[in-house]
Amino acid sequence: MHHPVEPSGPAARPESPHRVAPVMCGDERGHRIPLTQRASLVVAGAAVANDGFMTIDSDLLDDLAATLPAGALLTDPDVVAGYRQDWAADPNAGTPLAVVRATCTADVQAVLRWASAHGVPVVPRGAGSGLSGGSSAVDGGIVLSTEKMRAITVDPVTRTAVVQPGLLNAEVKKAAAEHGLWYPPDPSSFEICSIGGNAATNAGGLCCVKYGVTTDYVLGLEVVLADGTAVRLGGPRLKDVAGLSLTKLFVGSEGTLGVITEITLKLIPAQPPASTMVASFPTVEQAVDAVLAITRTMRPAMLEFMDQASIGAVEDAMRMGLDRSAQAMLLAQSDAPGAAAEQEIAAMVAACESCGATEVFATDDPAEGEAFTAARRAVFPAVQALGSLLLEDVGVPMQALPTLISGVEKIAADCAVRICVVAHAGDGNTHPLIVFDPDDQDEVRRAQRAFGEVMDLAIGLGGTITGEHGVGRLKRDWLPEQLGPDVMDLTRRIKTALDPDGILNPGAILT
Ligand SMILES: Cc1cc2nc3c(=O)[nH]c(=O)nc-3n(C[C@H](O)[C@H](O)[C@H](O)COP(=O)(O)OP(=O)(O)OC[C@H]3O[C@@H](n4cnc5c(N)ncnc54)[C@H](O)[C@@H]3O)c2cc1C
Repeated sequence: MHHPVEPSGPAARPESPHRVAPVMCGDERGHRIPLTQRASLVVAGAAVANDGFMTIDSDLLDDLAATLPAGALLTDPDVVAGYRQDWAADPNAGTPLAVVRATCTADVQAVLRWASAHGVPVVPRGAGSGLSGGSSAVDGGIVLSTEKMRAITVDPVTRTAVVQPGLLNAEVKKAAAEHGLWYPPDPSSFEICSIGGNAATNAGGLCCVKYGVTTDYVLGLEVVLADGTAVRLGGPRLKDVAGLSLTKLFVGSEGTLGVITEITLKLIPAQPPASTMVASFPTVEQAVDAVLAITRTMRPAMLEFMDQASIGAVEDAMRMGLDRSAQAMLLAQSDAPGAAAEQEIAAMVAACESCGATEVFATDDPAEGEAFTAARRAVFPAVQALGSLLLEDVGVPMQALPTLISGVEKIAADCAVRICVVAHAGDGNTHPLIVFDPDDQDEVRRAQRAFGEVMDLAIGLGGTITGEHGVGRLKRDWLPEQLGPDVMDLTRRIKTALDPDGILNPGAILT
């Protein structure tokens, strides 16, 4: 399904720190890990080889295995290979020494105590649906998967859920729904991504334009720090301002500050079924004008944009009868109570018509609405049928949305690459999808150029290089341009304070 960019990825700058010499796992001399910034580390049972690599004696891995439940530590190369990359298929992903599938907080603590003692990098991993190489494995490191940690308790009185990180987003929603409650954040990947990964990336989604993103629902966390200490932050309290906002610091930290082992989520009462509007436009500009006309006056429960290429790709995959001739389509929903939904939908229809929509369809049938929403969610896999993808996630303040979208069109023309655009338009968060042929090296280079230029454009418009997917490894080279030296320095100081030896997800967010 994935088509990794070969020979090098978009942000695959030669100096990528996780791109080190090959690891020799499982040979008779033991497992080898790179000595990155740890040349002075002295480890009992480890020796430094002539080529600058530290050789981890197999006994050390056995020591780790002995602290874990049987079968939690995996070294079978075929199994380990399945944990090297996330959905972005980072071509520079390393080969880990082992994978640990933790079953509880104590397992996570055991891994981090061992890793700290021996200077071994640890890459936390949820379900591996990330789109920025955040859980790309590191050569000689441990991939620490939380997929087996799946407990959930819903408390309808406080309207909270206490959940372990491995449960999928869709499963959290289902558990909440059994109590008449709702967990809103809904990444398009909600059926394949974990709640731990959502917290670690501060995931957004379709309904976030009205209901906010993951952090707005995280009341508390249990986090295991780099040295193996487990701390509890926040809790099932709707108001709590005691101390610094450390809970928020860990949300969105992409596995670089600690491993999330439990999340306390705020739930809200289930909303009424949504009414849906679909509008087709003869030009992209008219569709974007309609977005601004809608967001100026109301808060839709969803406001999504698809360009002609995305519509065509979804239509090829799903045969839904979408208007292939339209240059752009908007999909909007209202879940306002009672007659208010009808009024909101009518106002959105009017806004689209006044901006030049050629066809507008409205329905209060939830099943019809869900079919259109499923079409929107299917865009990434559908566009993948056209070629390999570099996925953008740039966002801008709303008034800059038209300039961003027209600028992306220009970049596509300048770089002679195809860029499909799909967007959570209501909050200015766009996903230009750069399509290329991985066997055409010239096109690979042009795609990589476009990848950088789109982020430069967003930054120039006062926007962000990532609205919801995270920086990971593929976008980290652009982070200094967005944040500036002072904020980068502050970020490094926080990282160093919490992870002084740099073992947690090295190479993600920061070089
Ligand atoms: C088809 C498709 C559609 C998508 N649509 C959206 C969307 O609409 N909105 C959106 O926000 N994202 C979207 N995504 C991206 C992705 O699903 C999210 O980023 C998701 O939050 C990742 O969750 P995961 O469990 O797969 O995490 P992973 O990919 O395994 O990890 C993501 C990051 O979190 C860290 N991490 C994971 N678990 C933990 C933990 N327990 N403790 C500490 N760090 C951890 C990893 O180290 C990594 O940096 C989409 C992806 C796909 C494939």
